[in-house]
Amino acid sequence: MEINLISDTVTKPTKGMLQAMMNAEVGDDVFKADPTVNKLQNKLADMFGIEDALFFPSGTMANQTAIKLHTQPGDRLFCDKYAHVYNYEGGGAAFNAGVTCRLIDGDRGMFTAEQLAYEVAGRSDIHVPYSRLVCIENTTNKGGGACWDFEELKKIQKVSKENNLAFHLDGARLFNALVEKGETPKQYGALFDTISICLSKGLGAPIGSVLLGSKENIAKALRIRKLLGGAMRQVGYLAAAGIYALDNHVERLAEDHKKAKEIGEVLEQSSFVKKVEPIETNIVIFYVNDNLDPMDFIKSMEEKNIWMISMGEGKVRIVTHLDYTNEMHERLLTELKNF
Ligand SMILES: *Cc1c(COP(=O)(O)O)cnc(C)c1O
Repeated sequence: MEINLISDTVTKPTKGMLQAMMNAEVGDDVFKADPTVNKLQNKLADMFGIEDALFFPSGTMANQTAIKLHTQPGDRLFCDKYAHVYNYEGGGAAFNAGVTCRLIDGDRGMFTAEQLAYEVAGRSDIHVPYSRLVCIENTTNKGGGACWDFEELKKIQKVSKENNLAFHLDGARLFNALVEKGETPKQYGALFDTISICLSKGLGAPIGSVLLGSKENIAKALRIRKLLGGAMRQVGYLAAAGIYALDNHVERLAEDHKKAKEIGEVLEQSSFVKKVEPIETNIVIFYVNDNLDPMDFIKSMEEKNIWMISMGEGKVRIVTHLDYTNEMHERLLTELKNF
């Protein structure tokens, strides 16, 4: 039995999802003639109370498009030092939009409104790039699945607004935060100019992300998606997987969170573990003792067909997901206890 915990992107479509894909009505989406893509876009726009939405092949392309539509070359954006848009999108902010990232030294991928205000204030002389955009990520990936405090986000939105900065949410795992904190999509829709949502993370679709925004912003996004090569044809087969995921795989995210917390409890009790980061959703980040090389730990788990990854700086990451069964969970807990 292979237990793959390297990411929540490793899931394969369920039978029900495949059936929904098989039955999808499709058309040429470049001509906006794919009814299933239109349905997915409308469904998410309605859910979040935002005017419009656009389907993308990846979260990276959705985020990169958002950065591009809010900025001009030479501008800068503000994000946490752990941000995916800065660390894990291949330098795309610089390459695609020609912008620099001003990194904020937050906690587990989250900064405060006060920190943002400090970074923005009093820097308008000619030496400094124009400030245009604030990007936040919920849940934080490199921050271990942490969820932002919504009251702090409101304050950050206020600072952004006062300084004429656009506000983008990288919501690759936003549904994990919504389920965990009992928040609603509309709360988020009201706060951000653009939001990207991944269907291929915890929601279990094989591919797909959606960018949400005003009609004006999505019209810009449509052009940028085209020039990035992301305009697709009979892609309703994939959008159908996304619709199925939204209908069937949201509430169950709570199970992934429960399992992640149980793994954390076992790690806390384990003599080979130095520290476990707080666990809020489906990501577990922990440090092994100094006398144990994290790569050696990961290798010996791989010999038992259990897969996890290193996040650098001595960190090991486990991500729970739809294909991680109760049986796998029992086996993992036993292996960790016996290590
Ligand atoms: C996975 C992820 C993305 C997008 O990744 P793709 O692999 O391009 O879909 C964006 N932001 C965060 C925080 C992510 O975890």
